[in-house]
Amino acid sequence: MVHQDEIKINGFLDPKTAAQYLKDHEIPDGLSAEEVFDSRINGGLTYNDFLILPGYVDFPASEASLESRITRNIVINTPFMSSPMDTVTETEMAINMALLGGVGVIHNNCTIEEQAEMVRKVKKFENGFITDPVCLTPTHNVADVHRIKQQFGYSGIPITEDGQLYSKLLGIVTARDIQFHEDDKTLLKDVMTTDLVVAREGITLEEANQILRSSKKGKLPIVNSRGELVALLARSDLLKNLNFPLASKTADSKQLICAAAIGTRSDDKLRLEKLVDAGLDIVILDSSQGNSIYQVEMIKYIKQTYGNQIDIIAGNVVTREQAATLIEAGADALRVGMGSGSICITQEVMAVGRPQGTAVYKVSQFAHRFGIPVIADGGIQNVGHITKALALGASAVMMGGLLAGTTESPGEYFYHEGKRLKKYRGMGSLDAMEYGSNKNEKIGNAATQRYFSERDVVKVAQGVAGAVVDKGSVRKFVPYLITGLQHGLQDIGANSLSSLREAVRVGKVRFEVRTAAAQVEGGVHGLYS
Ligand code: GDP
Ligand code: GDP
Ligand code: 5GP
Repeated sequence: MVHQDEIKINGFLDPKTAAQYLKDHEIPDGLSAEEVFDSRINGGLTYNDFLILPGYVDFPASEASLESRITRNIVINTPFMSSPMDTVTETEMAINMALLGGVGVIHNNCTIEEQAEMVRKVKKFENGFITDPVCLTPTHNVADVHRIKQQFGYSGIPITEDGQLYSKLLGIVTARDIQFHEDDKTLLKDVMTTDLVVAREGITLEEANQILRSSKKGKLPIVNSRGELVALLARSDLLKNLNFPLASKTADSKQLICAAAIGTRSDDKLRLEKLVDAGLDIVILDSSQGNSIYQVEMIKYIKQTYGNQIDIIAGNVVTREQAATLIEAGADALRVGMGSGSICITQEVMAVGRPQGTAVYKVSQFAHRFGIPVIADGGIQNVGHITKALALGASAVMMGGLLAGTTESPGEYFYHEGKRLKKYRGMGSLDAMEYGSNKNEKIGNAATQRYFSERDVVKVAQGVAGAVVDKGSVRKFVPYLITGLQHGLQDIGANSLSSLREAVRVGKVRFEVRTAAAQVEGGVHGLYS
């Protein structure tokens, strides 16, 4: 109803009262998330089935904060995770995801030793104080340094009396000392630098870094009052810190955060022990149906054995009932998604699953009450899907197909019909299961564990194998996802992920269900070529 006193100009309302009028007289445009995800009315929805209505833009996109808590104890700067799949995440992917502010989850379709070695490499990639540097004695030779360079990738080696830490520091050998040295048998005492810039134990990292900068040396050994080596600092770490300001690192060691997947069999306890030894921060219990006695027992075992040393992401789940069990058992985060993955045929084969939008919304709203973050896993095909998953309450998205085919994903490129491709396969595909069995005769195979009982005689695949096109490096692709997501937030009018989630929760951010025709309209259409 328009009141008499509101009519101001030529029978129309005063334009200056538009906002106030809206508040006083109109119900908010669109629907709240609660209304959109009422399954009785709209059924189960996936990312393409709805849109977020735009809000008010009053900040530059680059200022939108993407900081997010992905487990009870771990906060990262970009809400992206790479799937634990053998065509997605090994060392290279995990290092680069962490450098760019996300987290890579190393797959377990390999031996325990192989997986632990991958975790170790991620953890060793960047350091504050290197507290266990590789050392040699003066009587080792140049060939020993080459060997270490080949095995570990660095050649800055402190030389101590007995080749150990906490032994008297005598000198240092670096790449330049041996660069043009032809005789591999030369002893290190004849090539090492003895005139060293060192710092004393107890120095802070900031102070030590300052000495490293001003000394213009590549390494800074830290010694105690007896002149024994206690740690080492590398100049290249200062550069890494400078070049990757968003990197996901632990506060004290400055090492990259690393996650890895395990199963829930008793062998997996040994696997976990080796991964924790290698420095693992987050363990993912990898199962397509996580609401099981095996997972509950595993969560309890991990909490009892490792306390807060390691965070657990349990799952996968798609309902509040499944979530409740795992939250109660002690999970530090939940992974949500069943059958939404691009290589996945679970919904067709097993008849179970849930459209991903509904699954993410229902589980994350429930888990939020207990302070448990949710990872939206699978079905992310573009930046818009990422923004939607996070709006529905997820703290991060996990991507397989979107990151497969990048330079950092495992496997070689090959050409098919003029296109440069890389393999991408579901972990429940026959292809992955066979690969795992060959590698893992004794301990059983991770892919089989995730999707079957090991004793099943007939195996029913829940995934397929295929190929995806070359996407270039994640060093370019992830920044594109970051900027795209920031622009999404700007359009919605939320300057951080936490404010977005809160605005959705209280019904301030509005949604619209997308009809089939609306989806066609939203895609590219009407072009001749
Ligand atoms: P940041 O510099 O913004 O990352 O701030 P932090 O509080 O994380 O770092 C504190 C100090 O540690 C600063 O002097 C940083 O330059 C330094 N720092 C951060 N990461 C590393 C690293 O990986 N290696 C080394 N050597 N120093 C680091
Ligand atoms: P180098 O000059 O050949 O030793 O290699 P860089 O200094 O370029 O790189 C060394 C990198 O390896 C740094 O990021 C270190 O933090 C890391 N690193 C991890 N463990 C060790 C270690 O035991 N010794 C050395 N020198 N570097 C290590
Ligand atoms: P994408 O990002 O490619 O859409 O989905 C990746 C996700 O699919 C993974 O993180 C994992 O949860 C799931 N997944 C991986 N392999 C399989 C499989 O063989 N079958 C099923 N059902 N899901 C899979």
